[in-house]
Amino acid sequence: MANSKFEYVKDFEQPDALLPNTWIVVRIDGRGFHKLSDHYAFVKPNDRRALDLMNAAAVAVMKDLPDLCIAYGVSDEYSFVFHPTCQLFERRNAKLVTTIVSTFTAYYIHLWSTYFPSKPLQPPYLPSFDGRAVIYPSARILRDYMSWRQVDCHINNLYNTTFWTMVQQGDMSNTDAEQELKGTVSADKNEILFKRFGINYNNEEEIYKKGSVLYRQYELQQPSQEHEVGDEDESSISEPKQSRSQQDKLKKLRRKAQVVVDHVDIIRDEFWQRRPWILSGKPGKLPAADSNDTQATQ
Ligand code: ATP
Ligand code: ATP
Ligand code: MG
Ligand code: MG
Repeated sequence: MANSKFEYVKDFEQPDALLPNTWIVVRIDGRGFHKLSDHYAFVKPNDRRALDLMNAAAVAVMKDLPDLCIAYGVSDEYSFVFHPTCQLFERRNAKLVTTIVSTFTAYYIHLWSTYFPSKPLQPPYLPSFDGRAVIYPSARILRDYMSWRQVDCHINNLYNTTFWTMVQQGDMSNTDAEQELKGTVSADKNEILFKRFGINYNNEEEIYKKGSVLYRQYELQQPSQEHEVGDEDESSISEPKQSRSQQDKLKKLRRKAQVVVDHVDIIRDEFWQRRPWILSGKPGKLPAADSNDTQATQ
């Protein structure tokens, strides 16, 4: 851009780089999805097509941005995690958030007709998402963040499953079901489901109970008992900044890996111990053959 007397306006822009060597989580959430899900008649409490569409859009985001090391989705929200070593957009907050939100939204709308072929999108019921970035100073706290989202998924899903079963199979009004569930704990809801409707909550689909976790697939490791995964972020903090060519090499390796969609416990250590590349940020070995039991997506 040529120098002009107007260029001083650039100085009004505020720097917004996120703290170095911290985990960056960008969480997006559908705007007004309660209404949107009514309009397109999502199946209650869990519309599988809507969840598959969220996951497909998130896989596209992971592929587009190799700096992302893991993502977790439930309902109309998705959390995307950048490793502490990430230098994308010089870690500028607005650039990271708006890129994730718009890439996700673009794919969500692009893929909509694949998942809802008989329900074309109609204004004003067009999907949009908000987003925010939060930084976490250690892998332990990042894991607690992920655990928080998965516990939320469990609590909401148990409530929603019980509520909608009472309404749909028990012929109760929304108000009556809500009233009866007020103040109940998990055990009460499990009992209502089992005694009244013969439903064992444990047999519900994993995608509903656990949400969806996305990561790049390398050769799975045996869980290691010796060291606790989650406290080794100090190594990345003390690591010297990676050179541009190192970053490009890692980016290429990550692009080669397949992004998988899994519905597993991410609260316990095992998930992280078997997939050390997620927290270390170092790509592992590409698997020799497709022998894992997860749902692979290209
Ligand atoms: P806000 O704009 O504040 O986020 P919202 O209407 O999107 O408001 P949320 O708290 O984000 O409210 O809740 C999303 C709602 O979208 C859920 O409560 C549920 O009604 C609906 N929803 C999202 N995904 C699904 C799905 N897969 N199946 C059925 N309903 C869904
Ligand atoms: P999220 O926005 O985090 O993706 P969601 O939109 O699916 O989740 P919420 O809107 O948080 O779910 O909750 C759905 C409904 O369930 C709300 O009406 C909420 O008040 C109710 N609810 C959730 N958990 C409980 C609970 N433990 N006890 C009573 N009501 C609950
Ligand atoms: Mg929402
Ligand atoms: Mg939500």
